[in-house]
Amino acid sequence: MTYKLLTPGPLTTTMSVKETMLQDRCTWDDEYKALTQSIRQNLLEVALVSSDTYTAVLMQGSGSFTVESVLTTAVGAEDHILFITNGAYGERMTQIAQTIDLNYTVYAVPYNEVPTKEQVTQLLQQNDHITHVAMVHCETTTGILNPIEEMGSVVAAFNKVFIVDAMSSFGGVPIDFEKCHIDYLVSSANKCIEGVPGFGFVIAKRAVLQQTAHQARSVALDLYDQWRVMEIDGKWRFTSPTHVVAAFAQALQELQQEGGVEARYQRYKENNALLRKEMARYHFHPYIEPTYQSPIITTFLFPHAHFDFQAFYHEMKANGFVLYPGKLTEVDTFRVGNIGDVHKEDMQRLMLSVKKYMEVVQ
Ligand SMILES: *Cc1c(COP(=O)(O)O)cnc(C)c1O
Repeated sequence: MTYKLLTPGPLTTTMSVKETMLQDRCTWDDEYKALTQSIRQNLLEVALVSSDTYTAVLMQGSGSFTVESVLTTAVGAEDHILFITNGAYGERMTQIAQTIDLNYTVYAVPYNEVPTKEQVTQLLQQNDHITHVAMVHCETTTGILNPIEEMGSVVAAFNKVFIVDAMSSFGGVPIDFEKCHIDYLVSSANKCIEGVPGFGFVIAKRAVLQQTAHQARSVALDLYDQWRVMEIDGKWRFTSPTHVVAAFAQALQELQQEGGVEARYQRYKENNALLRKEMARYHFHPYIEPTYQSPIITTFLFPHAHFDFQAFYHEMKANGFVLYPGKLTEVDTFRVGNIGDVHKEDMQRLMLSVKKYMEVVQ
């Protein structure tokens, strides 16, 4: 049975994206290297940035590998990074920093709140040894959308390097690189671009990346070296996930056919609005307030103390939908994702299944 994955990635991809993987490709062949180069150029176009100022680098592994590659490469031994966190992915960056022994400070915000400009300004004023600031755009833990434009302008005012984990938002939520003052943006193949998992990518300011030679504490995750080699002719340093790369090129084409980031954002937003409105009928209320709610994924509170999520999950799965468990410790929640090849009809079908279940089981 095939399911619609209502998860934040890996997600449901189109048949045409999957079919691209039926051909084997050679990593050192010119055609493949050209494919890599066209993806890199395409990513800059999706980001609406110029190749004079920014460059795109692809990195093997899941999204976290790419986050780690940015942190290990961008933050030097004498540097100090501030992490602004309100969820598990922000905390993962902290864990990486601790493991690779970076100098860091954490500004932790409750999971259902966003950081304030005042607090970050004060932190940067009082700690002029801070050189880098990193945060997550859409915290997939809860679905909260962080104000990166507001934060970026504070970070830029203090002349710090700004790193954004936009893993679950890039390609599905418009991001203005200039207004956000982004130096490094990280995302991966299997989120809003709607490809399959296997690599991540970084859109970095050339002038900033260029200063990071020999800084990485890792060979495989050295972003500078990966970029240096890829920049020559599109060759990946080590074996690349060829099938995944081809699928990603197709996914990028389909993003363009849909009408680009703005059109995809509209689809996600409409499906998310439909979902939240209909779910409320059955007393499923979101954990995040509407102002901060992303159109990517929604965390729902259990409708009552005796709600049996396992039973609900299995019933939805039997109806063709895979939901996502919650990731919060203090409250009982589950999550429903909107990204992937999921359309209004799918949401309507899901809601029919929810209705049937809730009417019988309630
Ligand atoms: C998916 C995701 C990641 C990366 O997770 P992986 O499991 O390593 O792919 C990082 N940050 C955010 C916000 C994410 O949504």
